[in-house]
Amino acid sequence: MKYKAVRNFIGGKFTDNQMAGKLDVISPLDGNRLSQVPMSSVVELNEAVKSAMDAFPAWSKTPIKERVQVFFRYKTLLEKNLQELAELCSEENGKTLGESVAEIEKCIELTEFACSLPQLITGELLEVSRGVECRTEHVPLGVVASIVPFNFPSMVPNWTLPNAIALGNCMIMKPSEKVPLSVGRLALLLKEAGLPDGVFNVVHGGVEIVEAICDHPDIQAVSFVGSTKVAKIVYQRATSNYKRCLALGGAKNHLMVLPDAIPGMTAQNVAASMSGCAGQRCMAASAMIGVGNVDSIIDKICEEARKIIPGKNLGAVISKESQQRIEKYITEAEQQGATILVDGRNTKVAGKENGTYVGPTVIDHVTPQMSVATEEIFGPVISIIRTKTIDEALAIENANPYGNAASVFTQNGGAARYIIDHASAGMIGVNVGVPVPREPFSFGGWNDSKFGVGDITGKSSIEFWTKLKKSTIKWNAEAGVNWMS
Ligand code: NAD
Repeated sequence: MKYKAVRNFIGGKFTDNQMAGKLDVISPLDGNRLSQVPMSSVVELNEAVKSAMDAFPAWSKTPIKERVQVFFRYKTLLEKNLQELAELCSEENGKTLGESVAEIEKCIELTEFACSLPQLITGELLEVSRGVECRTEHVPLGVVASIVPFNFPSMVPNWTLPNAIALGNCMIMKPSEKVPLSVGRLALLLKEAGLPDGVFNVVHGGVEIVEAICDHPDIQAVSFVGSTKVAKIVYQRATSNYKRCLALGGAKNHLMVLPDAIPGMTAQNVAASMSGCAGQRCMAASAMIGVGNVDSIIDKICEEARKIIPGKNLGAVISKESQQRIEKYITEAEQQGATILVDGRNTKVAGKENGTYVGPTVIDHVTPQMSVATEEIFGPVISIIRTKTIDEALAIENANPYGNAASVFTQNGGAARYIIDHASAGMIGVNVGVPVPREPFSFGGWNDSKFGVGDITGKSSIEFWTKLKKSTIKWNAEAGVNWMS
């Protein structure tokens, strides 16, 4: 085991819980055991919530300009430790080192946004009648929780923690049991940056902890990122306990290619979008709709896909189960009559025979009914559906239950605008394969890709992590002057 057993982080220190069962943490890169993660119980959650509640009065009363100083220092520490954080991210998640470096760079950008929060939450003030003013203030909620998935061990935690904490809340983070190591490093960096003990706590585990978070009477808000199946469970359970909840789910992103698209650029973008992070991105292109004759572009996509080499510029998928699930989808499509143009099944990387790799896979002549067209595959696979018109393409995109992202490749501004207007997704790309909005623009899908109001990052997160206090104040004591004067 390369690393010591993972521990919870409560009240500013790593704590042991002898009673908890443990799961192995396996590196997808080579199948080696990296560590073990505790399956904590409600006992550890209660300790973490108590420590967060104890920290809340002082932290929430600290002026925001002072609170964000911690995040200026945290940003510098992320920069200083970028290489080490990226290596750990690759080890536990399986992505390439370059992808992990980009992930930590995104954490830095997210932290920069948190540092700008004092500029954004100044509130409003208006003299509403003679001598009477109304003002608004954003007030932190209290103890909040963030439950995160395996595919971005550092970035998704940083979607929530800098903003929620800078806005004055204290947080319990529940990392994915598949990638629990990175969040422990982030906890130490926050401590080094001067975050008071108890403001950020980490409790490891699985279903039991997530359910206990949704039920805990002292947790005010729950943010969740993961599959749609679990997002629905968490959203229902947290809101039925009268908590604020924002639950981001899975995706099936459609990328529409029109015949006038620039072939080289389009092919590079399609191949990069479907295979980046081994296709394990909620923003990955999973279905491509070729409108009209795009055969020459498809040829180029195959050329690009063949340049993507597992173990070199393509990372591993998270587990053996994922590898088998993805390969099953490809085989099913083949049996149903689709054409496998580039086949990533049975991939082995020399020297890393126990790693879990799937090569880039391009499937053509997929019909809208096939499972590769309708379900989230979460692997480096693109399913190509052919249509004659843009409206047919949009009908297919609109019929899918998810709504994270959709993209169009074209040089025709009118066609692009039409697709922006009619695609049923929260984030749209024009000649962009992975249309993740950059800060300060917020991140969030539609339909079954998100449950709850608002987005998880950017300005939208301010509404989620705070409540609004409205004061009506009459400063003058004149008789006969009231709030309607
Ligand atoms: P997952 O839903 O299996 O797990 C997410 C979290 O929920 C983990 O912390 C896990 O421990 C916990 N969990 C798992 N099963 C549970 C259950 N039955 N009850 C309660 N908690 C449970 O997701 P994953 O496999 O870790 O991540 C991949 C999924 O996340 C994909 O569907 C992907 O699209 C999605 N995702 C979405 C976004 C987005 O922004 N919409 C971002 C990243 C990932």
